[in-house]
Amino acid sequence: MSQEQTFDYTIIGGGLAGIQLALAFCKDSYFENKSIAIIEPDTKSTNDKTWCFWEKGVGQWDSLLLHHWEKGTFYGPQKDISMDFGGYLYKMLPSINFYDYAKAEIAKNTNISWIKDRVIKVEGNEIKGAQQTYWSACVFDSRVPEDFEKDAKSLTLLQPFKGWLIETEEDHFEPESFTFMDYRLGHENKTCFTYVLPISKRKALVEFTFFVPELINNTIYDEKLKEFISNKLKIDSYSIKEIEEGVIPMSSYPFWKDNKDGFVKIGTGGGWVKASTGYSFKSTERKVNQLIIALKLNTIPQPTFWQKRFRFYDEVLLNILYQQNQKGPEVFERMYSKNEAHKIFKFLDEETTFAEELKIMWNTDRPLFVKSVIDVLKR
Ligand SMILES: Cc1cc2nc3c(=O)[nH]c(=O)nc-3n(C[C@H](O)[C@H](O)[C@H](O)COP(=O)(O)OP(=O)(O)OC[C@H]3O[C@@H](n4cnc5c(N)ncnc54)[C@H](O)[C@@H]3O)c2cc1C
Repeated sequence: MSQEQTFDYTIIGGGLAGIQLALAFCKDSYFENKSIAIIEPDTKSTNDKTWCFWEKGVGQWDSLLLHHWEKGTFYGPQKDISMDFGGYLYKMLPSINFYDYAKAEIAKNTNISWIKDRVIKVEGNEIKGAQQTYWSACVFDSRVPEDFEKDAKSLTLLQPFKGWLIETEEDHFEPESFTFMDYRLGHENKTCFTYVLPISKRKALVEFTFFVPELINNTIYDEKLKEFISNKLKIDSYSIKEIEEGVIPMSSYPFWKDNKDGFVKIGTGGGWVKASTGYSFKSTERKVNQLIIALKLNTIPQPTFWQKRFRFYDEVLLNILYQQNQKGPEVFERMYSKNEAHKIFKFLDEETTFAEELKIMWNTDRPLFVKSVIDVLKR
């Protein structure tokens, strides 16, 4: 017979979002008397992804970083652009550093239990796991909803990618500078690019990715990586030390629609991945901060009407890439050649003023954006 355990807060999924939330609970004395569970089936003991993100100056994850860059280049189909970071740093964090640090921090808190189980379903305050049933006053759920897979109404693109961590026998890379996006190696008129993250003169993570409505044949990635390393990086001899792959959803799907008092979707399953970029590491930090403030007020975060404009912008860009995927390389080239990178980063962080947002869109591809705005308003 299954036993029942009772908690004030239960986090389903000890991945990026679940762990960032748990760490925020650990740091805040307001939560020290709350009983908290993290239910996660995996041991989180492999380096399953590398998170990159931009931020200004010092950040709370700096001690876990593998590398950071102050300079970057964007290679469009026509132009090479040296990016003006205006004080932002582009940071690289291997997930294993994050998991190891988080598990050690969480273990110091006797009010937080890390439970190895897989959640089967949540009904009100009852959480049915494969091993046990749990009861929780408040649930934070990072599972991606099954409805999302079936949804045909939202605009959804996929960001599938594969990367090789390569090592060379001679010096080939400049570890002070990285390639943010390189569109010179295309594939069948799709939006796809390579990026290069050098961590030393002889080691770099090289990844090839698409922003596409449908998945692409799996064999393409190895072919493209090989071609890029040989033709663009001009490297003939190297060894592959690690492989990273995955698919990130970029979608206008309303992941937060079932949020209510006592139940909040978090992470990818809560729409915390920025729909127009696929980035979520920093947005997770912002969403966790908002959630902590709301919990102390006994409520859940509600974006204001004015804050929702960023969802609209995401949808406008998604719509362009969905309807005219071949336009992606020139849209991004225009965006990064006509606007300083630091202004785009601020915009993507949803920290710009309305005037700054209009300027970025005005500087990009006006007719295309105006048409997409009309399409999205009509949807
Ligand atoms: C390979 C890869 C690289 C990425 N790189 C970047 C990057 O550079 N920068 C960036 O900003 N974003 C990046 N992302 C996007 C995003 O940051 C990550 O996907 C991030 O891990 C999302 O956080 P999450 O908590 O939603 O999901 P996850 O980190 O995947 O965590 C979800 C957790 O839920 C657990 N789980 C699943 N089902 C159940 C269940 N039934 N019961 C209990 N637990 C369950 C899983 O085991 C997992 O541990 C990357 C994504 C991938 C896949």
